[in-house]
Amino acid sequence: EKAEIRKTLRPLFEATSNDSGSAMKFIRSRVERMSERWIQAGLRMKQSSNRTSSTQMRVLLYPGALAGSVGQRFEAMVERGGPLGELVQWADLSACLTILGHNLTFSTSQRQLSSFIGAAPGRGSCPIQRPLTFDLIYTDYHGLAHLQGAMGLAFQHYQCRFRILDSFGTEPAFNLASYAHSHGYKTLWGSWGLQPLQYMTMFPHTPDNSFLGFVSEEAVRKEVREDELEPESYGKERIAVVYGKQDYMWQGKSEYVKVISEELETHATVYQPPGHASNIPSFIRNHGLLTQEHFLRLLRRAKLFVGLGFPYEGPAPIEAIALGCVFLQPRFDPPHSSDNNDFYKGKPTTRQISSQHPYAEEFIGKPYVWTVNVTNSTDIREAVRAILSTEVKSFTPQEFTCVGMLERVHGYITHQNFCSKSVPTWPPESALRVHLGPLGQSCVSVCRRSSLFCEPALFHHLNTLAAFSRLGLGCSSTVQETNHLFPSYSPWGRHCGLQLEPLLFSCAGSDLSYRRLCPCRAHLPGQVALCPDCL
Ligand code: UDP
Repeated sequence: EKAEIRKTLRPLFEATSNDSGSAMKFIRSRVERMSERWIQAGLRMKQSSNRTSSTQMRVLLYPGALAGSVGQRFEAMVERGGPLGELVQWADLSACLTILGHNLTFSTSQRQLSSFIGAAPGRGSCPIQRPLTFDLIYTDYHGLAHLQGAMGLAFQHYQCRFRILDSFGTEPAFNLASYAHSHGYKTLWGSWGLQPLQYMTMFPHTPDNSFLGFVSEEAVRKEVREDELEPESYGKERIAVVYGKQDYMWQGKSEYVKVISEELETHATVYQPPGHASNIPSFIRNHGLLTQEHFLRLLRRAKLFVGLGFPYEGPAPIEAIALGCVFLQPRFDPPHSSDNNDFYKGKPTTRQISSQHPYAEEFIGKPYVWTVNVTNSTDIREAVRAILSTEVKSFTPQEFTCVGMLERVHGYITHQNFCSKSVPTWPPESALRVHLGPLGQSCVSVCRRSSLFCEPALFHHLNTLAAFSRLGLGCSSTVQETNHLFPSYSPWGRHCGLQLEPLLFSCAGSDLSYRRLCPCRAHLPGQVALCPDCL
């Protein structure tokens, strides 16, 4: 059966109606608030349809972070300033799949998970494995462990159907257990040995993974199609909103915040536990944690959204920019990484985080985003004054609109097949632009420097000696090795290295002694996940 675009989100509300936790409440209220935009976007997609239709998938959504004992802790934090970014993403993914016409089951219960996918009790101690009734299972790292517990041996057999929501990304070197172990890439999270593209990130920072994203919210303006929305400058007041839901995020930032408050009336939405004195300076107007709707209303009035340095890479700055705010954020020099930072420590990535929100910095930039050295009061003051004297309109990158997310997720569902044993066929080879990187550079940056995007699914086309000679490289010797830096060229001795293990094809890998062969491709304007002519 073909998946037909739906004109309603009712099936999703039905699928989530018997979960009354605060996380699911957040998810439902977000989907409700945005439902009109989703439906309009679906209609638009239907009209312009020249894309391949996909078969209707039976999909299980299982956010492991909301299940079991971890789930209880998470639930308790939802109304106390805990992380909401994941919930934003689960809400938008579920809405997106519903509009695309797929058949959804949404569960946050570990017990229910076992009843869906666990082995049936057999005779004696020998359970009987039933065939999996889901074509796709979206989960997270916590959920993976639950799935493994529930499925037993069938886990391996069905893992190609899993999709892992993984905000910060998992690089190939950390993903392959044996390699991670012997090469110093072992972390708390990695080592599941899935295809790297099965991990789905919040922002397009790790092209080895699939970029899932979310939809940046704007207040619903009825009867208006997304593409007809005039970017507008809302009636702005001279106010700033500080980004940071919890007290501790403000530590050591008083000088920075003070400079800002001298230029604009400064507001905050910091959760305040009843009966506790706050550490927020008295010149700040703190509203306490707001519902998402009220938070967005506040952003609408504000001119400036102020990053404190934490949380990293969340959705809020994208929303703020979509509502016409300028985002001011700290530059990190030296960059934060798993080597020097507690938050990134143990995360399966070698990324160097150059500011609180690298996507905002690199993909959006001025006039919407200002990245400054916040230890220098003069720099801050100058930036704020410059911002106050410019009129900035609202801006939403295409990939963070409903249409953008529908197209992207549709593309993945239609074309990504990790259960097939053959080499990937999407994107097609015609999309390939081979680049030879300089020493020490990863393919992520090599491609980006040419305004292209690294596409790991194209690596197998360059993993041949013919690819080296087409680049004019003569090999005095060739090795074929399990090495996340290959294929690459080593100028000393003119060694050519070919990849032996397809799971280790890596856009992220870099090393001072290698020039990487990079599979770059073009992308649609404002939508890095998709190439022109690939849908
Ligand atoms: N948010 C909210 N109330 C507030 C502040 C933020 O509902 O007082 C929402 C905001 O709209 C955003 C979400 O919280 O969509 C996640 O925000 P953030 O960027 O802080 O990411 P997190 O660290 O929570 O994952």
